[in-house]
Amino acid sequence: MQNNKTERLLIDCGINLVNLEKRLAERSVTLKQIDGVVITHEHGDHCKGVVSVVKKIEIPVFMTYGTFLASSSFKRDLKPSFFSPHKKFNFLGFEIEPFPVPHDARETIAIIIKVGDCCLGVLTDTGMVTKHTLNVLKKVGALVIEFNYDENLLNQSKYPEALKKRISSNYGHLSNTSAFNLIRALESEYQKVIVAAHLSTNNNSESIVNSLLEKLSHESRVNTFIAGQSSGTPWIHVN
Ligand SMILES: [Zn+2]
Ligand SMILES: [Zn+2]
Repeated sequence: MQNNKTERLLIDCGINLVNLEKRLAERSVTLKQIDGVVITHEHGDHCKGVVSVVKKIEIPVFMTYGTFLASSSFKRDLKPSFFSPHKKFNFLGFEIEPFPVPHDARETIAIIIKVGDCCLGVLTDTGMVTKHTLNVLKKVGALVIEFNYDENLLNQSKYPEALKKRISSNYGHLSNTSAFNLIRALESEYQKVIVAAHLSTNNNSESIVNSLLEKLSHESRVNTFIAGQSSGTPWIHVN
């Protein structure tokens, strides 16, 4: 995320340094222009690049103490700033509001970031939508949300039963239907942008997600995007 003072915050870092630099360059940003990074939880797809990034450019890294304890690499290689998952904190021009979500990691958070009147929510890796999640997201104008799996594709997949259960459990991931219903339930007058993210390569397809997003943009005139696993999105202007 970039604010209007060109301060930039990275939320998670699940790709290696080379790929991160490549993706930043595609968006006209260099690694040195990143000012800090917030980690949501210790799963590799959210943090496997963070140690090399922090070592290279020596920026602050923020995480919960639970996330820190869950990773031997963090304990060995990082000196993070800790935050409570129940308390807002400020970093440069960003007001950062973490909140706890049910997921099978040690102390997983989702996050809301405010810059002036702009309010971005990032909700990936949550097994269910709690009342608290619904309440705190009502104020966001832009929401990055996981559309992880299509129920039918997951049921039919070759994944072992235990893995299917884990993904669809209350501590796993959001299905397309759950994500769609959450956005509808927000009924937010502020909502302008929806980015569908964290799509499973094996148990989802962009065309299925796209048809749901088309319904949403038709109903409430939000701008919708899909963040592809390998492509991401271009810069999206939110105000
Ligand atoms: Zn996860
Ligand atoms: Zn994940």
